[in-house]
Amino acid sequence: MILIGGDRFIEHQPPAGHPERPARAEVMAAVARRWVEAGGALTPPRAASRGELVRVHRPAYVDRIADTAGRRLRLDPDTYTSDTSYEVALLAAGAVVASVEATLEQGAPAMALVRPPGHHAEADRAMGFCLFNSVAVAAAAARAAGIERVAVIDYDVHHGNGTQWMFYDDPAVLYVSLHQYPFYPGTGAVDDVGRAEGLGRTLNVPLEAGAGDADYDRAMRGLVVPVVTAFAPDLILLSAGFDAHARDPLGGMRVSTGGYDAMTDHVHRLAARCCRGRLAAVTEGGYDLTALEACLDSTLARLSAGPPAPSAVITGDTSRADRVIPAVRQALAPYWPELR
Ligand SMILES: [Zn+2]
Repeated sequence: MILIGGDRFIEHQPPAGHPERPARAEVMAAVARRWVEAGGALTPPRAASRGELVRVHRPAYVDRIADTAGRRLRLDPDTYTSDTSYEVALLAAGAVVASVEATLEQGAPAMALVRPPGHHAEADRAMGFCLFNSVAVAAAAARAAGIERVAVIDYDVHHGNGTQWMFYDDPAVLYVSLHQYPFYPGTGAVDDVGRAEGLGRTLNVPLEAGAGDADYDRAMRGLVVPVVTAFAPDLILLSAGFDAHARDPLGGMRVSTGGYDAMTDHVHRLAARCCRGRLAAVTEGGYDLTALEACLDSTLARLSAGPPAPSAVITGDTSRADRVIPAVRQALAPYWPELR
């Protein structure tokens, strides 16, 4: 397990009271400190290059964000910059690219502890606390390095509209999202399944508010695991947002720390089975500091554990999963015989 993180992520400072606050970086730093004290290595992030960013962002957009250096600006109703936000966002995207390079080289999982998050950032638009779409920049970097198929699994409570649109017609990148719906940002319906060559390469699992561990476990087993296995990726990226946690002030889900661990376990097992352990995880949302810290600790423990063994089905209320799974199956069945 390779961990990438550093102290500079605290420097991105939205206005006081904003949920995506510097204290989140303090939590990440504390988790990394414990990791190092326990004998783990911590790799500092590097900045993403302009060439890496423009694979998924418009050049004029990258220039616009570069122009925010030294300025406090509001880019959309909830996305702000402070003096060094541009530099910090470059480090966030670069850290995820570095985690991809590390997992490809070493065949062990890697994780980047970064902020601001990235999955709402579109090709030419900052939104939802996100400046650059770090996971998308990293997926594109992997493709540029010759990796044929990349799966991005996103269990943040919000749909990753930016990631979806950037690869919507790309058959080489499978985007899978489990999210609260209807909810911000409004995208991620069952029938968003990709376009043109990318048909079937977007899998959305829109869950009603209130979904819990057993719902997510059922959706992972019934939809995500079979489709990702059939896609046979050479690399898996995990958009690890922890705002579906029951404690989260923004999300309306009831996932526990153990429920998140079970999802990470599914992803870890997929990586071991499909792509020789090549898995890079990146933090996205997660706004309750206690839940964030517990989930980060358990994710690191999970990804640094040995070869994953089959896990037990989580029992409990699955009514919300059961209401959406047939519709998702129907939408994706034309492209995935596994779902018929
Ligand atoms: Zn989120």
